[in-house]
Amino acid sequence: MNAYLHIPFCTSICSYCDFTSFAGQESKITAYVEALCIEISNSSLAGPLRTVYFGGGTPSLLPPDQLGKILRSLQSKAGFDPEIEISMEANPETVDLERLKSYRSLGVNRLSFGAQAFQKEILRKMGRGHEWDRVEKAYSDARQAGFENINLDLMFGLAEQTLEMFEISIQKTLSLKPDHLSLYALQVEEGTPLAKQVKEGLVLPTEDEVADEYALAQAALSQNGFEQYEVSNFAVPGKSCRHNWNIWRGEDYWGFGVGAVGTVQGVRHSHGEDLTEYIRQFKKGQGDTIQLENLSPSIQAFEKLMLGLRTHQGVSKKELEQYATTNQVSFQAKFDLFEKKGFLSFASNHYKVTPKGYFVLNGLLEALVA
Ligand code: SF4
Repeated sequence: MNAYLHIPFCTSICSYCDFTSFAGQESKITAYVEALCIEISNSSLAGPLRTVYFGGGTPSLLPPDQLGKILRSLQSKAGFDPEIEISMEANPETVDLERLKSYRSLGVNRLSFGAQAFQKEILRKMGRGHEWDRVEKAYSDARQAGFENINLDLMFGLAEQTLEMFEISIQKTLSLKPDHLSLYALQVEEGTPLAKQVKEGLVLPTEDEVADEYALAQAALSQNGFEQYEVSNFAVPGKSCRHNWNIWRGEDYWGFGVGAVGTVQGVRHSHGEDLTEYIRQFKKGQGDTIQLENLSPSIQAFEKLMLGLRTHQGVSKKELEQYATTNQVSFQAKFDLFEKKGFLSFASNHYKVTPKGYFVLNGLLEALVA
């Protein structure tokens, strides 16, 4: 079993952020952790847990004693597999050596730092609270604290970032020798400050420029021994994120905390996004803000294909044909064309998205719905 825990606190809100995150609410951390532990203890979570993932928000705003409480709740509820992976997202400006050592001694064994870009002016424009020297310091502190599995997040498609500037971000990142790199394209989400800036005239790179950045990153990472195992994720051998990988392969996972989502035995559970309401309800032992959805066989089959195509494992032709027959979708002609254009490869009865095809993945997936 896998568990995702959402820690929604942030020191400030980034211009592009569409996650469930709240700034200036750190005084609620203790109450939130209490509610989270009650939710875990009242759930029907059954272990042993093979992966635990703290995402956010900024999980590294959790004082170690609070993190310890959550981990103890999980362990007493479900037990931990001896090889458990415990991942935590962290913002560089929120950690120091002492805090990282405490996290490590509590059992966290994988860290993911939001680095995003090298250039100070770009980070400022995004509303990030750090500069690159904090990334380097946090990274070296994490190594000193004993972390042997570290991811760095980078973004591309950013306003006012040229291809040359992006290349510097990539080279600076590679010079740290991380084990894993996640690479996300900037998305303009409705209702964010970024969407407002774009409406007011902020110019973003063209699709071709964004594609060039992605291709540049793919080439540089491949030259440096990274394998692309998913559309946004690259790892040195043996260091892919087991939590995400399990989910992409269709394993069950529990989501705990405000805004969290999970799927267990074909039922998706989704939490509401109101922090105060979450704390109020779960402290009383209620869970009225959780919505349940039974996933139909057709939705489950589509999701399995979609997740498979996102990864380097691809999907079997047999599964595609079964899905297409049940849902009256004709994919073959489109997939033949994608293959001809070099977006898909077909071997051993499996379709796999090529490095070039990852950039147009959404278009490929549309072939399965039309
Ligand atoms: S740190 Fe992450 S979760 Fe927090 S505001 Fe920025 S993008 Fe959103």
